[in-house]
Amino acid sequence: MNETLGEVSVPLPLERTLHYRVSEEVRASVALGSPLEVPFRNGTLHAYVLGFPETTDIPESKLKSATTVLAAEPLFDADALTFYRWLAEYYCTPLGEVLSTAVPKLPWDESKMPARARKPSAFLLGLEKEGVPTQAPPLSDEQQNALATFQDPIDRRPLLLQGVTGSGKTEVYMAAIAAELDAGRTAIVLVPEIALTPQVLRRFSERFPGKVACLHSGLTPKERLRQWRRIRDGSARIVVGARSAVFAPVTQLGLLVVDEEHESSYKQEDSFRYHARDVAIARARQMGARVMLGSATPSFESLRNVETGKFRRVQLHKRVRAAVASVVRIVDMRDRNRRYRQDLAWLSVDLVDALQKTLNDGHQAMVFLNRLGYAQYLVCTDCGENWKCKHCDVTLTYYRRPAELRCHYCNYRRRPPDLCEKCSSDKLEPVGLGTEQIEETLREIFPTARLARLDRAAVKTRRELEDTLMRIERREVDIVVGTQMLAKGHDYPGVALVGVVLADASLAVPDFRAAERTYQLLTQVSGRAGRAEIPGTVILQAMQPEAPAIVAAATGRFEGFCKTELEARQAFRYPPFTKLALVRFSHRNESTVQQFARDAMLRLLRASREAGVIRLEVLGPSPAPIGRVEAMHRWQALLRAEKSSDIQAAVRWLQTWIEKEKPSVKVSADIDPMNFL
Ligand code: ADP
Ligand code: ZN
Ligand code: ZN
Repeated sequence: MNETLGEVSVPLPLERTLHYRVSEEVRASVALGSPLEVPFRNGTLHAYVLGFPETTDIPESKLKSATTVLAAEPLFDADALTFYRWLAEYYCTPLGEVLSTAVPKLPWDESKMPARARKPSAFLLGLEKEGVPTQAPPLSDEQQNALATFQDPIDRRPLLLQGVTGSGKTEVYMAAIAAELDAGRTAIVLVPEIALTPQVLRRFSERFPGKVACLHSGLTPKERLRQWRRIRDGSARIVVGARSAVFAPVTQLGLLVVDEEHESSYKQEDSFRYHARDVAIARARQMGARVMLGSATPSFESLRNVETGKFRRVQLHKRVRAAVASVVRIVDMRDRNRRYRQDLAWLSVDLVDALQKTLNDGHQAMVFLNRLGYAQYLVCTDCGENWKCKHCDVTLTYYRRPAELRCHYCNYRRRPPDLCEKCSSDKLEPVGLGTEQIEETLREIFPTARLARLDRAAVKTRRELEDTLMRIERREVDIVVGTQMLAKGHDYPGVALVGVVLADASLAVPDFRAAERTYQLLTQVSGRAGRAEIPGTVILQAMQPEAPAIVAAATGRFEGFCKTELEARQAFRYPPFTKLALVRFSHRNESTVQQFARDAMLRLLRASREAGVIRLEVLGPSPAPIGRVEAMHRWQALLRAEKSSDIQAAVRWLQTWIEKEKPSVKVSADIDPMNFL
């Protein structure tokens, strides 16, 4: 029988692609991009055809045959492959891992799917219904100006749409999308954590009935396949989804929208560590599409791109529906006279009074703290013992209902001890604060108010989340206590008050973006109040009320804060003025990981000096801020350079060296890292 060769990519951290024997019959039914099952070691792997080479250096005897074709239709074309290869280069990630993210494994054989997965949710089916679209409102002058700028026939640079929360950015996206659809093109809209914000999806599907597909990681395999097919066959012309939707298999792409472009959830934190905003810009360039990045609080990367002329910017200054701007107050929590009760360092008379007023007026309030559980940890007040995770270098978070100590890193759980395990004392006290405690205290103060909690512990499933959000929307809830789940994208006109319990909590994180993030988070949370006719009040309780990030969020005077922060970044040579890669080392044995990390970085530095072409700085190696997770000791080093290409050259050198050394230490590299813990 006549045979040819097939080159395939498999979802393994291999730098190489693999070669297989392909029979004439298989060859006739596949093309570039077809999914195949191939034998590998003692099992099989899901692979994609990359090409049909003439020769191979694998000996005839070792060459295995690929016999199982999973689907006749190719899942990507040559252009897409070029793009995936570019991403693999940029992020120093094996092509196979890029493909496993970009082209998700789909359950082609529906008969083999578990019964549980067969029924798509009513919500997703609702996307397919044709119907009467909600009317687009006439755009305001500001919105119209933004749209016209975006559609400039000559200037096609990415547009940063900087508009305060509630200024009508989403309406601008929808108007731009409507125009692309009229011109026969398609659109992708990325939103952070779509599962948290079903409201956004509903707005799109009501404006464009039957034309919207949704992609995110919470879909069942069947749901994903269905959405995928609707995109592929062109019946869905708008894809709304979380970060991986940036890879949606659209043709004729006209527009890519990245909503809340500053959100760190756009960065994938494992295997293929891409940033969906950056990938969106690259994909739009490749497909000749335009990009719109929206945010009330743009990332400093994007602001810098405006400064250098890579991006354009339009601002929306006014809230569309709100008659007046929200009143924002900072409460200095160092002042003991401001305490509602002397034993509660976190609750001010100001916030309690404002809550009371809101309840009296029949309005709704949100109280925000970005900390889960009842308290940060449990301590023995006789001997000082506290309870840490068995596997990680962190204290266990104390939960009261049900009583439990939990590790937020590895999910280890145990019952809290009744007596101290060291000194047998029964004087165990919770220290620190979490949303559970806030809810409990507010229930005591406002016994007749209807409370709800919105955080990962209270709301575990999509169903529970949708339920809680629905109750808020129907005004069956008076006070919502929550974590950052509250901060994102919700648009509830009944909310008159937002209280932030510890506005400076996120400033203490060891990350050069701490101030930027704090400012962004506070602005986003504050934006939940006063969205319609009801005037909004925001109360920021802080121990450092003069911190620039807090003042900027309270006053909305962002330019000064941004300028100072950017100057500091430049002085200390941090992004957006430099490029970084974070190299992580982990191993069970602490001295092994330490020695290896030091050796690897020394060699890298020596090699980069010898090469003389790449200009590289190595910060560290040093123990990671959380030195042990899941029983693995962690060290890390930061690579810094002026140019991306130097960072990539360094990481590639390291990867090649490691492939030769085959160390027992696990090493990973994160290009453009967003998380340093
Ligand atoms: P953002 O995305 O900036 O937070 P939205 O687009 O959600 O703002 O707009 C906030 C609210 O104002 C929404 O309820 C929206 O329907 C409404 N809205 C936006 N633009 C207009 C407009 N031109 N006319 C009337 N209502 C509008
Ligand atoms: Zn003790
Ligand atoms: Zn743990």
